[in-house]
Amino acid sequence: MATLRCNPTNSVRQTSPYGPRNYAGLEFHPGMDIGATVPGKEGDNLYAVADGTVRVSKANAGNPATGYGYYIVIEHSNYCSLYGHMQRLEVKEGQKVKAGEVIGHMGNTGLSSGAHLHFEIRDCNYAKFWEKGTLKGEYKYAIDPQPLLLKNVLSITEALNIIKKKRIYDNDTIEFMLTHPWPQNFLDKFAKNIK
Ligand SMILES: [Zn+2]
Repeated sequence: MATLRCNPTNSVRQTSPYGPRNYAGLEFHPGMDIGATVPGKEGDNLYAVADGTVRVSKANAGNPATGYGYYIVIEHSNYCSLYGHMQRLEVKEGQKVKAGEVIGHMGNTGLSSGAHLHFEIRDCNYAKFWEKGTLKGEYKYAIDPQPLLLKNVLSITEALNIIKKKRIYDNDTIEFMLTHPWPQNFLDKFAKNIK
């Protein structure tokens, strides 16, 4: 069972669901689309949803004008996550990442019209990641990411801003919080408790 320790973006606004859909010659949308915090504006932080290893960090087929555009795949202990149409990549293939670590920024590269994140979860290890399903564009192990998102939690940015504003911690401690990747649930509880 795939469990997220952090949402992939500060926004959790779904602009297009997972499932059968005809677009760009495909019959299946293997992930969910998430809109920018400010609709249309690129650059929102994208976070690793759990600890893992970066398996892909590149422009699709070397050409950002096709498919996923700039995209990342992370292999976690028992599932994989994919982040597509990115503006910038901040991690390299083979790199180990922690939950909540910034891996890049939301963009509009590849087959995309407007800033958004195309987010996929595949319930398999990376060896099986690209195994296809029956419909065009469907992947055998892809599942709907929407029910897995953390609900009713502060975004990482909001939580850190609250903790910073309270100034009950010295600069070194705040600096540590800002740079150390925490699970989003923990940061949320922490920020709400010192309010
Ligand atoms: Zn999509």
